[in-house]
Amino acid sequence: MIVARSLTKSYGTGPTAVVALAGASFEIAAGERVAVLGKSGSGKSTMLNLLGGLDRPTSGSLAFDGADLATMTRGLLADYRLTNVGFVFQSFHLLPSDSVRQNVELPLMLAGVSPAERKARATASLDAVGLSHRLTHRPTELSGGERQRVALARALVNRPRVLLADEPTGNLDSATATVVMQLILDQVRERGMTLILVTHDEELAKRTTDRVIRMADGRIVEP
Ligand code: ADP
Ligand code: MG
Repeated sequence: MIVARSLTKSYGTGPTAVVALAGASFEIAAGERVAVLGKSGSGKSTMLNLLGGLDRPTSGSLAFDGADLATMTRGLLADYRLTNVGFVFQSFHLLPSDSVRQNVELPLMLAGVSPAERKARATASLDAVGLSHRLTHRPTELSGGERQRVALARALVNRPRVLLADEPTGNLDSATATVVMQLILDQVRERGMTLILVTHDEELAKRTTDRVIRMADGRIVEP
């Protein structure tokens, strides 16, 4: 489903340029659960952002079902983000002045779904993460674990094929992290999704995924 070839990403140009990805090649099959492991600064988030169509590679190709994200038009890339991927970030990325349900409705709004259907689907998605009793709360009124469950509901609401999770439990205490991680894994299994999980927790990676991609200095290293 995903084929990356000699993928590079540099930030900035000239002598101050930072090479975040230095030529990564890999493949991920539909339904696989893959962990991306590596030290801070090794390029994990950069890679996930490229996979999510949030950013474009500097060179190389990144194909999703044969379509190259590197050369896709902005419009098609936006469609790709809306229909194929859901994102969960370490720091939740919720809109503080919107209610929980409005936060979850956002991808549906961008996809042009009608208000009535938006409401119904957002409510169902929040129900799936056990938060149907918090629809009208603001994110600031929720605990960290609840915020990440809202972010998960938002990531799932478009029924994407791939869930991209960037250290999703990194801001949570260990008991809450266990609960949130289990919820992510249950949802991925139930929906038959592909999971790409960035973490620096070796144990978690081995316990919860089928395969580990290890990164160092912007490259994939062999185990
Ligand atoms: P990780 O997620 O593994 O910690 P990142 O992908 O965030 O690593 O970062 C890889 C490298 O790219 C780091 O050296 C980081 O400082 C740099 N980097 C990441 N994002 C940017 C950016 N927007 N501008 C400049 N440098 C960046
Ligand atoms: Mg990171």
